[in-house]
Amino acid sequence: MSIATLSPLYDRVKSVIPPFEWPAFAPDIEAILELKRERDAVILAHNYQTPEIFHCVADIVGDSLALAREAMKTDARVIVLAGVHFMAETAKLLNPSKQVLIPDLRAGCALAESITAADVRLLRQRYPGVPIVTYVNTSAAVKAESDICCTSGNARKIVESLGVPKVIMLPDEYLAQNVARETGVEIVTWAGHCEVHERFTAADVRQLRRGHPGIVVLAHPECPPEVVVEADFAGSTAAMVDYVDKKKPARVVLMTECSMSDNVAAQHPDIEFIRPCNLCPHMKRTTLPKIRHALETMTHEVTVDPMIATAARRAVERMLAI
Ligand code: SF4
Repeated sequence: MSIATLSPLYDRVKSVIPPFEWPAFAPDIEAILELKRERDAVILAHNYQTPEIFHCVADIVGDSLALAREAMKTDARVIVLAGVHFMAETAKLLNPSKQVLIPDLRAGCALAESITAADVRLLRQRYPGVPIVTYVNTSAAVKAESDICCTSGNARKIVESLGVPKVIMLPDEYLAQNVARETGVEIVTWAGHCEVHERFTAADVRQLRRGHPGIVVLAHPECPPEVVVEADFAGSTAAMVDYVDKKKPARVVLMTECSMSDNVAAQHPDIEFIRPCNLCPHMKRTTLPKIRHALETMTHEVTVDPMIATAARRAVERMLAI
């Protein structure tokens, strides 16, 4: 394969990657496509991965929920998770017999690190009988202490499915507050925040509306509640993609991580994307050279203690069943 042969792939990203940058990406893309065949590997990429990963080497793309679901369907022997560590752990929980690799072991998540399994045990003691709903953006050890998991895409549905007046929802305080407002269920929260979404403010939304008349504002539910209230629509990254695909607003802003807008814009060159950029440094640890290295050396393998895995898998599978 040559750089010229890869041009159909460049067509997918030409509206967000200038031609002079493409030769810097093409050799790694070519090598990764070949290595995937040799290793019987698939690449799962989160919506926050950069366009050359998302559009050019990934086999499955989506939000945490989609990646968890699709991870279960693959026949490949190896899964490379282009995302952060908790996502790789979730893929491993659902595919215990497969080899799961993460290109950079330091790709963590500030939100996931805000809570430990011991914290969850203390909450269970303090609120006996109150179900614990845990966001997938947590370690396997935290999931293992929980009754059921949720994502930003299904949090409301999961809470409503429990049919109780009060739940504990961990660790994202803003997601929990947004779900409490939508459902009327009393929610005990934890003071964890996503460092990307907590930076958006209601003043940002108002400024965007003043500066860009007619703009449609889509917000992620990890944003503070006052941002979600001011937005035209709030939903997971998958729900935002769906909104843009179906409604095709002339001008839009996605109040979420930077690469998400690039990835959606690549598929909608006719839509004007306004991009106030909040970057996730953890997501950006994954690069094409690191994915290539992961497949060349079969590192870094992600494992989960079998005792923890059994309990954590139960919480994830309960979510997937709803
Ligand atoms: S965007 Fe937020 S929740 Fe997602 S990995 Fe980065 S810090 Fe964690």
